[in-house]
Amino acid sequence: MTSILVTNDDGIHSQGLVSLANTLEGLGEVTVVAPDREKSAASHALTLHRPLRINAWRDGYYMVNGTPADCVYLGVVEVLDRRPDLLVSGINRGANIGDDVTYSGTIAAAFEGTILGIPSFAISLVGNQPYDFCNASRVALTLAEKVLDRGLPKDTLLNVNVPSGEIKGVRTTRQGKHIYEELVHEGIDPRGGKYYWIGSGEAPHVDQGADTDYMAVRDGYISVCPLHLDLTHYESLETLRQNWEGDLEGALALESSS
Ligand code: MN
Repeated sequence: MTSILVTNDDGIHSQGLVSLANTLEGLGEVTVVAPDREKSAASHALTLHRPLRINAWRDGYYMVNGTPADCVYLGVVEVLDRRPDLLVSGINRGANIGDDVTYSGTIAAAFEGTILGIPSFAISLVGNQPYDFCNASRVALTLAEKVLDRGLPKDTLLNVNVPSGEIKGVRTTRQGKHIYEELVHEGIDPRGGKYYWIGSGEAPHVDQGADTDYMAVRDGYISVCPLHLDLTHYESLETLRQNWEGDLEGALALESSS
């Protein structure tokens, strides 16, 4: 029977997770392994310096006192004891586009799945409260069928963002760019100490091309962006080789071995 692992970064009590897991049940056996509380922006962190616990919550649902990446790793190694056929992470409350990709726990869970050799995708619902996960769940089901049928390119995952409201179509996209203006909110706590709150600034100003994830969801399209585990910027390799290697070796007083 097809085995599907589901996780997220909003925590096991998130409605987006439950909606996703319920919908995917039509395709096989769904196992949910998710953080016991919200872990948004946890990125790809693994918990190495304290013990982790897996607690059964309800039938097929397990919660972990760790990060999304912890959940995927423990889900595969301990809960399932074998590699599932598919990993789906989400449905996240809010978009994961542009530079969000490197902060997102939702996407990191799909990265972890990809590292473990599991075809994986992350799915996020654009917008704010109140969230309606119906459309995004339908998109997840359709995409899950396709991925199970066709697989994904090696070391590649899909980052999917579904607009709220009416969907006009599907666009395959590249990662866009955010330019955050005011990132930190300053305040005074009840005991008179200064505090800083990250990420409470204005909505990001965005510098975008037409083929980006941002523009797709802004125009009402589902964005499907392939992401690769290898973060090397290949276009820069030759420039760096020519202009940096020798200079750095010279500055470090090293003899080139090449
Ligand atoms: Mn989240």
